[in-house]
Amino acid sequence: MSRFNRSPSVEYSSFLREVREYADADHEPGEGVCRAIADALEADLKKRFRAYWSVEEPADGPACIRRVITGDDECNCTSTRSWIDREHERIGARDKPPHKPPYSDHATLWLDDGDPVLYSIHIYGPEVEVVSKTAAPEGERRRNGWFDLISFAEHWGLEIGITPFSWYNAFSTINVVFYSPEWARQKGGSE
Ligand SMILES: [Zn+2]
Repeated sequence: MSRFNRSPSVEYSSFLREVREYADADHEPGEGVCRAIADALEADLKKRFRAYWSVEEPADGPACIRRVITGDDECNCTSTRSWIDREHERIGARDKPPHKPPYSDHATLWLDDGDPVLYSIHIYGPEVEVVSKTAAPEGERRRNGWFDLISFAEHWGLEIGITPFSWYNAFSTINVVFYSPEWARQKGGSE
């Protein structure tokens, strides 16, 4: 019996026992139980993510959130941005649709029927972020990044979501997504 299963099968119980034994044993650095499970489940978690958000394919080329904001078919991201622009992007402070959300890491742009609709990132807890003077005025360099992420979504008219399955590095990264509200409404209406 466990908290999740009152009458577990033999197979379930023996798997649980094996995982617990692995968790209690000593391992090489980087081979702890959470890493091992994250490693084993990467493809499964990605599949769950796709099913949960109803997205199929990642876009070719650089993952760009401007395309979710504007609906553009493409973007020439890498060639057009200065260091200053990128620093401003880091906290979401820009007056034009940016190419990246704040604290973006391990980003993927997802398509639905060829349209750019959802942008996913996998971030390590953004509660304490320290940014450059260029990115933020004096006194605001140490930031709780969640506020920047939420303000960013509000400012650009995007929905923000957090799912409990980061396939990139489960148990270490948090999966945050931004998506188009129009697309979400259409999806909701068609189901
Ligand atoms: Zn771009």
